[in-house]
Amino acid sequence: GLDEAGTVMPERAISPSAKLKGAALDVVALDMAYGDFKVLRGVSLKAEAGTITCVIGPSGSGKSTLLRCLNRLAEPVAGDIRLDGKSILRTRADLLRRRVGMVFQQFNLFPDHTAIGNVQLALRKVQGLPAAEAKRIAEERLAEVGLAGRMSHRPIDLSGGQQQRVAIARALALKPELMLFDEVTSALDPELVKGVLNLMAGLGKSGMTMVVVTHEMNFARRVADQVVFMDEGKVVEAGPPEAIFGNPQSLRLQRFLSEML
Ligand code: ADP
Ligand code: MG
Repeated sequence: GLDEAGTVMPERAISPSAKLKGAALDVVALDMAYGDFKVLRGVSLKAEAGTITCVIGPSGSGKSTLLRCLNRLAEPVAGDIRLDGKSILRTRADLLRRRVGMVFQQFNLFPDHTAIGNVQLALRKVQGLPAAEAKRIAEERLAEVGLAGRMSHRPIDLSGGQQQRVAIARALALKPELMLFDEVTSALDPELVKGVLNLMAGLGKSGMTMVVVTHEMNFARRVADQVVFMDEGKVVEAGPPEAIFGNPQSLRLQRFLSEML
């Protein structure tokens, strides 16, 4: 397809140099509260290594909080989170974040750094790589997300879709075992959404495990290995996309889908 700059976008999976090894994810009876307000109530889900889980549900249902718990930006009050069978709740949060990448709706790029600078900085700070090696890896990752010609641009000189690709390249550069995406296309102009979704669909073939919070029902239907529907802090239904979209069991999911589609 064509991206927003009119250049041809790679719709293939990202190159083999970025072949990643995903971890199996196991979330067990997770509770999370802000003060007295229970945001997550016994959330459990399992994702096999290398699969894509799409999380859908109304605003305020706890989707972002779940992702924040998965990379220890928020600490659950009960339950467990396991990567390849091992609890991550007792590992140091900074060490965990080397294994778990996250991409946000608002990109969260450093405005004073170029595209390549943003990726390089992550490699140097998080992995302690020397400048030359960080630069080489940053160039590779940016090329893979279709930004070979935009490496020296600052965020303000990039479209939203391009900024989001920089954020994705930055997370990918750290070779995460688990990557979390929180409504990463929600802030994009409609014409930029498809390119980023195609990129993410390609990443699904890289071997890493992905948890994707999204309002893009067609994306979830097309690329998810499983879809998890949350409401009021609980997992109401989970299953393969054919079941969730084709044969929703609960009234709440039926109502949600009828409002979304
Ligand atoms: P979603 O991503 O599904 O829209 P969130 O996880 O952002 O839901 O929020 C779930 C609930 O937790 C909402 O009711 C929200 O208002 C509340 N919430 C989120 N963050 C905070 C916070 N830092 N302090 C207090 N309440 C919060
Ligand atoms: Mg949210």
